[in-house]
Amino acid sequence: MYKQHLDYLKKHDPELEGYLEDEKARQMEGIELIPSENLVSQGVLEALGSVATNKYSEGYPGKRYYGGNEVIDKIENLAINRAKKLFGAEHVNVQPNSGSPANMAVYWTFLEPGDKAMGLKLSEGGHLTHGHKVNFSGKLYNFLQYGVDKETETLDYAAILEQATKEKPKLLLSGFTAYPREIDFKKFREIADEIGAICMADISHISGLCAAGVHENPVPYFDVVTTTTHKSLRGPRSAMIMCKEEFGEKINKAVFPGLQGGPHEHVIAAKAVAFKEAMEPEFKNYAEQIVKNAKKLAQTLNENGLRLVSGGTDTHLMLVDVTPFGISGKEAETALEKAAIYCNKNTIPFDTRSPWDPSGIRIGTPVLTTRKMKEKDMESVGALITEALHNAKDDSKLREIKSKVLKFCEQFPFYE
Ligand SMILES: *Cc1c(COP(=O)(O)O)cnc(C)c1O
Repeated sequence: MYKQHLDYLKKHDPELEGYLEDEKARQMEGIELIPSENLVSQGVLEALGSVATNKYSEGYPGKRYYGGNEVIDKIENLAINRAKKLFGAEHVNVQPNSGSPANMAVYWTFLEPGDKAMGLKLSEGGHLTHGHKVNFSGKLYNFLQYGVDKETETLDYAAILEQATKEKPKLLLSGFTAYPREIDFKKFREIADEIGAICMADISHISGLCAAGVHENPVPYFDVVTTTTHKSLRGPRSAMIMCKEEFGEKINKAVFPGLQGGPHEHVIAAKAVAFKEAMEPEFKNYAEQIVKNAKKLAQTLNENGLRLVSGGTDTHLMLVDVTPFGISGKEAETALEKAAIYCNKNTIPFDTRSPWDPSGIRIGTPVLTTRKMKEKDMESVGALITEALHNAKDDSKLREIKSKVLKFCEQFPFYE
């Protein structure tokens, strides 16, 4: 079992220590279904809490703007080399502080303001940074949006090809935030080749599945791939960019000095830990189990009368239309939270409700699988979710369910 070490804080800053203990308790005592979250190992926690946080190291290994980086260079090179091996990448930049700035650096590399790019609509599963109008990506670039098919609620590659051929974006982006089906990356490569576009994937959500070979890994044949490191990859809250060697220098310049200052070397150290863990055979079992659990949970919810967008899932996540229960996504999120079950409200494709109170919720299995839950446990989770949603307006019933959730979670300890 892993431990959050707070001995010093306990003595010297009990107020903050108390909050951190409370947050750990919340994480352990609830069912965490937010598909972009995970629980990190002792090794990742230790690296994050290390003295590497003290160092300024603007630049790259061997070429820094500050002295004293001999050891830091070894740490950053270790992270880079492990990432290359894990994903079969030619060039890796481990400095982006998070997923959004990683995407920004890629656009900065390949596009001029006003240039055309193409990504999936936020309301149908894309990310804010894939061209939404409130985001820098939509403001700075002419980001065209593709959607999913109304019947199947999945990608229609022929329609994407048609739109891309007509619009000729300079960059074609695949990889999503709320898409429950496996992505045909080869098709995206073909479409990009057809129109001479840069072929980019943002595998933030599924990079753990790609690293384990459970889903196709686009890194070897895409021009550029970004990923966060804290989702299914189970590392620290951060990101990286992987690309063809020919783009490496431009990508590096876009990250620093283009967008960021000093890299967060303690987080880079933690990424190195996570990449090593992801290369161990156990991680492949983990990634396989994530998908098995998601399929089982989807099946359970479906049998209990909820509607799954696209009919189910091939990934770690699913979109659940909760309107068959006569409630909205927001009401579902609130009710579940009262029962210590955490998820987020989410639009479903062609949603007729507003994004603030959409028809669905988005749930996933990376955290539960890290806690060693298996298919039979997904039946219990599905039953608890269903019970909470059926009693969405009954606070005392939700309190009862919360105590069942607490008891259930005690079987799956993680942080002591
Ligand atoms: C989570 C996510 C991001 C953003 O990552 P942050 O670290 O939250 O900035 C970008 N793209 C996709 C597809 C994501 O799922």
